Amino acid sequence: MDAEVIVIGGGLAGLIAAAKAARAGCRVILLESASEFGGRARTRPINGFHFNQGAHALYRAGPLERGLAELGIHVSGIKPPLKSARVLHQGRLHAAPFDLLSLLGTGVFDAADKLDAMGAMAKLTGSGFGARAGETAQALFARMARRPKVRDLLAALMRLSTYGNAPDLADGAAVLAQMRLALDPGVLYLDHGWAQMVDALIKTAQGAGAHLHPNRAVAQITRGDVFSVAMADGTSLKAPSLILAVGPHVVRQIAGELPKLEAIGESAMPVMAACFDIGLARPAEGGVNFVLGIDQPLYFSVHSVAAGLAPPGGSLVQILRYLAPGEMPSKAQLESEFEGLMDLAQPGWRPLEQARQSLFMMLVANDLPRAASGGLAGRARVELTACPGLFVAGDWVGQEAWLSDAAAASAGAAAQKAMAYVRGLGP
Ligand SMILES: Cc1cc2nc3c(=O)[nH]c(=O)nc-3n(C[C@H](O)[C@H](O)[C@H](O)COP(=O)(O)OP(=O)(O)OC[C@H]3O[C@@H](n4cnc5c(N)ncnc54)[C@H](O)[C@@H]3O)c2cc1C
Repeated sequence: MDAEVIVIGGGLAGLIAAAKAARAGCRVILLESASEFGGRARTRPINGFHFNQGAHALYRAGPLERGLAELGIHVSGIKPPLKSARVLHQGRLHAAPFDLLSLLGTGVFDAADKLDAMGAMAKLTGSGFGARAGETAQALFARMARRPKVRDLLAALMRLSTYGNAPDLADGAAVLAQMRLALDPGVLYLDHGWAQMVDALIKTAQGAGAHLHPNRAVAQITRGDVFSVAMADGTSLKAPSLILAVGPHVVRQIAGELPKLEAIGESAMPVMAACFDIGLARPAEGGVNFVLGIDQPLYFSVHSVAAGLAPPGGSLVQILRYLAPGEMPSKAQLESEFEGLMDLAQPGWRPLEQARQSLFMMLVANDLPRAASGGLAGRARVELTACPGLFVAGDWVGQEAWLSDAAAASAGAAAQKAMAYVRGLGP
């Protein structure tokens, strides 16, 4: 036997699963197809700027932060200051009505909107208000606010905290919980980007004895007495338990011949975004640091204001367009929207540009929790009962949390279940 547990995929889910299983005393091998670990949590250095794969923020006190702490990893970063935040409406920037004071002063709402927004904010922050079973986010927002512009603000806050841009499909209860998490305790922008987490996880997993292999793409999994993992380079490995920390389409591709796996995750609805990140020699004069689109699904934030992501004096701006299901705008359209937003938020930025990253079609999460499929409860399970010893992890798995928090929660559960399975086999 080559290992007790083989983990396939070296993104956050795979690294967490490998570190946790190895810490618990399992013999672990992790196989990653790319030349680097980290998956969508990788960070690329360009001219001294640290570019994540699009704007990334760590949800405080969520399963990812908790899972890292259990492994002794404490990340450094800063909560973004939103005091002078703006919203974008009809092509103009206004004070963002994110707290009572700015709500009273903002020019984006009239008096009736402001009154309505106060009620909506009380529902959002109060524990007495909840979503109904099977309710979409759109129906939930309709119960929270009467005024269309206030409902649009709620949809914008949903996009901000979930990256999902389908209020008519998203599950209201899951959305409300995530919006509350984003508000309090809020998020952190990480110094040096998410590579900080990835590097610490690699070190922790290796320190606990896990063997991590990059450039090892898994081609197929079969099962005899134990699992056999065939790699694209013609080699193979054997283990009694596997954790598949890859997206649902890869699971179907490599394990589709195992019982009941041919259709796993087939109904998953990907959450996509277009990203545009710019490194500036210095912040533009008169610029603002945070903009959330109300009537356009746009996000703008100078992440380097909070975190160490730029060389001394420099400024790293992250812009993102939340894509609706199936939406595929042209690159030219996206570039014109992004540069237009830069002109509004960082006037005179063009001569200051030192580095740029455009990622026009990014997979943010493998599955949007939808009302029609039971919300978080409708996602794939970690344990595949039809195939003992086989477990899945990722941001489309498990009944807890969104995004990388879902990846971390399912990875922790998969490691625990794989370990229990291996121990149950006896000596
Ligand atoms: C633009 C953007 C913004 C985001 N913002 C946030 C945010 O603010 N907060 C947040 O919590 N989350 C955010 N996310 C989501 C977060 O990045 C992901 O949820 C998380 O990184 C997923 O980790 P994972 O390990 O499940 O998947 P992945 O990172 O996709 O890892 C899967 C790994 O498997 C490997 N692999 C694939 N096929 C094979 C194979 N055949 N053999 C071996 N290896 C294979 C891949 O190379 C990859 O490394 C964002 C994502 C994007 C794209």
